[in-house]
Amino acid sequence: MTKRTHSCGELRQSHIGQTITLAGWVNAYRDHGGVAFVDLRDRSGISQAVFHPDFKDAHEIGRALRNEDVVMVTGSLRAREEGKVNPKMPTGEVELVVTSATLVNKADPVPFTPGQREVVAEDTRLKYRYLDMRRKELTDALISRHKVVKIMRDYCDAEGFLEIETPILYKSTPEGAREFLVPSRLHAGEFYALPQSPQLFKQVLMVGGLEKYMQIARCFRDEDLRADRQPEFTQLDIEMAFIDREDIIKLITGLFVRLWKEVLNIDLPQTFLRMTYQEAMDRFGIDRPDMRFGLELKDVSDWAKTTDATVFKSAVEAGGNVKLITVPGGGTSLTRKQLDALTEEAKKFGAKGLAYLKFGGDAGAGKMSGPVAKFISDAKQAELRALADAKDGDLILFTADKEAVCWRVLGELRQNIARQLKLIPEGGGGGWKFLWVTDFPSFDFDESTGRHVAKHHPFTAPMDEDIPMLDTAPTKVRAKAYDIVLNGIELGGGSIRIHQKDLQSKVFGLLGISPEDAQKKFAFLLDALRFGAPPMGGIALGVDRIVMLMLNRQSIRDVIAFPKTQSGTDLMTEAPSPVSPPQLIELSIATIVQKPVARSQ
Ligand code: ASP
Repeated sequence: MTKRTHSCGELRQSHIGQTITLAGWVNAYRDHGGVAFVDLRDRSGISQAVFHPDFKDAHEIGRALRNEDVVMVTGSLRAREEGKVNPKMPTGEVELVVTSATLVNKADPVPFTPGQREVVAEDTRLKYRYLDMRRKELTDALISRHKVVKIMRDYCDAEGFLEIETPILYKSTPEGAREFLVPSRLHAGEFYALPQSPQLFKQVLMVGGLEKYMQIARCFRDEDLRADRQPEFTQLDIEMAFIDREDIIKLITGLFVRLWKEVLNIDLPQTFLRMTYQEAMDRFGIDRPDMRFGLELKDVSDWAKTTDATVFKSAVEAGGNVKLITVPGGGTSLTRKQLDALTEEAKKFGAKGLAYLKFGGDAGAGKMSGPVAKFISDAKQAELRALADAKDGDLILFTADKEAVCWRVLGELRQNIARQLKLIPEGGGGGWKFLWVTDFPSFDFDESTGRHVAKHHPFTAPMDEDIPMLDTAPTKVRAKAYDIVLNGIELGGGSIRIHQKDLQSKVFGLLGISPEDAQKKFAFLLDALRFGAPPMGGIALGVDRIVMLMLNRQSIRDVIAFPKTQSGTDLMTEAPSPVSPPQLIELSIATIVQKPVARSQ
């Protein structure tokens, strides 16, 4: 078989006069007065091939070519005529005059062409993913993803990490999310689980003395897929022995600096912003604040309880808070309709309503208007103006509720308002605001079950000085946990682990895991902790999200070769799918289908 001599994307003026063989797919074709022009595409780009009647056999083949046919052509490279140069194409100054051609494989008419301008429905693109991959956007995303993963590996290698694979067939040890189960044929009635993360294996690797572990790890979580999640996703998973939080922060900051430099040619600062969880909640109502804009929250409970507004007073009296956001210029830039929509959204996030006030405008300079204005005296209005740092034209949005509700509602509205008022710089430019959030609480209290749940995971070490509170006030205990956040999106998180058996047993107990249960699920961990476990900690970073943000794509599906839909279906292979009764019998499985399976998106 003839071999190609060049790639379609590399031809330049310096190649003029050379005999060149290209192979690729027909991206587009045109016939101009009997001369066929074909844009030939491979992974590297596109070159124009010209089939002239002078070369009869090649011309015959060239004229019949249609989109996505696979073809191999040999010819001589020449400069394009003046006026025919295409400055938009890197190869736009040259063209290949084809002297011989082979039709390697004829394609059926395709459902969509990679070159077509209008974007095809995502379902169609997922079904014919191999065609979608020929689109430059997806090819480029997969190339960038490769670079990102390679830099991660190289960086960790240079830092002395070992890449170690951990099992995919694992033991069911629920860490939070629901697991995927795999029936065991050899042990009828027993199951493996797919790992939600290699968490416990990496801790055991540290007990095993490996000291620095990394893996590009596939993780599986059978969650109801909220916006932009995948049931399987990729993490850069890391664990180190004999380190503290600062070592992880330094390592990962350095990795991001290098990724942004080498992939995007952007110089990030050598250190990133830092904030405790408490500060993040107080200022932004959310533990992954987008630092590209202000609109910070303020707590005005003390002020609110001295007004005549019952909504405010009763919330504070019931132990809640009154918090606000000042929207500069919001009195005019947000319409009544937008305010109504924000109120609806606030209700969706658990608020009873959304109080708002405007300064100036129809009420007159220095005055305040809005539904609760009449309950607030002039003196109190003046106080509020100072507290909220508001001027005429500004809008203030209030929530009066339990603190957690105020945070959630204003934290979400803050993002929404920033989008509506275009306070977020477009694209990445000027907007790479990395942030480390630290000092998370160890536990949340789940009111519905009356139980404590680990905020990160049950293996996270509490802060040394907070350990006594495990007995007295568990929700006040802070964890040695940290998250890395970029532009409001959590890129990853980790913690220093518990390496003492007694402390681990105590935390299991606090989480309502009985000693028998702990033994059943985590005997190997508790055993390992008895035999010389070093202090250790680590982190996991979401590779899909990192690549998505770097490339400014809308969804992680745009940076994954074979993603699943929102309902976890693979439209190309049509997984999941029913299996035959003999397969089930072999696995000792009977199925009970309670409701019909929704096969749509
Ligand atoms: N295993 C954790 C996760 O997947 C990360 C870590 O604690 O290292 O989120």
